[in-house]
Amino acid sequence: MGRIRPDFADETVIVTGGASGIGREVSLRFGDAGATVIVADLDDEPKDADVPTHEAIEENGGTAAFVETDVTDREQLRSLVEAAREFGGVDVMVNNAGLIVNGSILELDPEDFDAIHAVNAKGVYFGTQVAANDMLDREDPGVIVNTASISSNTAQFEQVQYDSSKGAVRMITRGAALELAEHGIRVNAVAPGQIATEFTEGWSEEAHERAQSGDLIKPVPLGRAGTPEDVASAYLYLASDDADYVTGELLHVDGGWQIF
Ligand code: NAD
Repeated sequence: MGRIRPDFADETVIVTGGASGIGREVSLRFGDAGATVIVADLDDEPKDADVPTHEAIEENGGTAAFVETDVTDREQLRSLVEAAREFGGVDVMVNNAGLIVNGSILELDPEDFDAIHAVNAKGVYFGTQVAANDMLDREDPGVIVNTASISSNTAQFEQVQYDSSKGAVRMITRGAALELAEHGIRVNAVAPGQIATEFTEGWSEEAHERAQSGDLIKPVPLGRAGTPEDVASAYLYLASDDADYVTGELLHVDGGWQIF
C-alpha cells in the first residue's frame, strides 16, 4: 500500500514528552517531513536517545532543538512557546507528555491522583492555552494536537485516576476546538490504544500479568499491541492541511480496541 508523505518544511512543531516513546517517534516523523522540531521534556539534558533523534531529524532536512520543560508549570510552557519564536513561532503544538500510575480506587494516594492530573489534564490545558494565545491573529493560524487515549472513552483495570485525566483531555480538546474555531485554530487529539513504550513500565504487576496472559491484548481486533510507529502518522495527518475541515476530533489508533 502507498503512504501519505506530508510536507512540514518551514513549519515549527513543539512536541511535549518528546524524549521518549510516542513523542519521540512523532518528533522524528515531523523531522522527516522537514519541520523544525522542538522536543520538550523534563530532563535538563537531552536523554541519550535524543541525540540520535536530533541527528535523524537533521539528516532528514529538519532542525531539532531541546527545551527543558515541565508541563505542569504554565510559565515553563510560556517560555517553550517563546523559544519557538526564534524559528518563526509555533505552527503545531503537540501536547503529548503523560504520566501513569496504576492503582485501585480503594487505595489510591491522593498525591498520585494530583500528580497524574497535573501532567495529563492540566499540562494539556496549559499547553493548549499558551499555544493558542501565541497563534491568535496570525494569517496562517496554527494547529494543536493532543495525546488522549483509549482511556478517554473506555475504563481500564485499576486506572480510574489515569482514565479520568484522559477523559479530561477529550473534553479539553473538544471545548478548545469549539472556542478557537473562530480564530482558525484547529484542536484535535490522537487516542492511542495499547502501545509498547516505557510507559507500560508504570503498570502494576497485576496489569502486567493480565497483559502477559492476553487479557489486555485479546480484545484488540487487529490482534496485537501497537508501536509508536503505528501512532505517529495520525499526528501528522491532524496537523496537516489535509485535515483542514477536522476539529474537535479524537482519532483512535488502537487496532480497533474502542469498538468494544
Ligand atoms: P513515555 O513514558 O515513553 O513518554 C512520556 C514522556 O513524557 C517521557 O519522556 C516523560 O519524561 C515525559 N513527561 C512526563 N511528565 C512530564 C512533565 N511534567 N513535563 C514534561 N514531560 C513530561 O510514554 P508514551 O507511551 O510515549 O506516552 C506518551 C503519551 O501517550 C502519554 O500522554 C500517554 O498517556 C499516552 N498514551 C500512551 C499509551 C501507551 O500504551 N503507551 C496509550 C495511550 C495513551
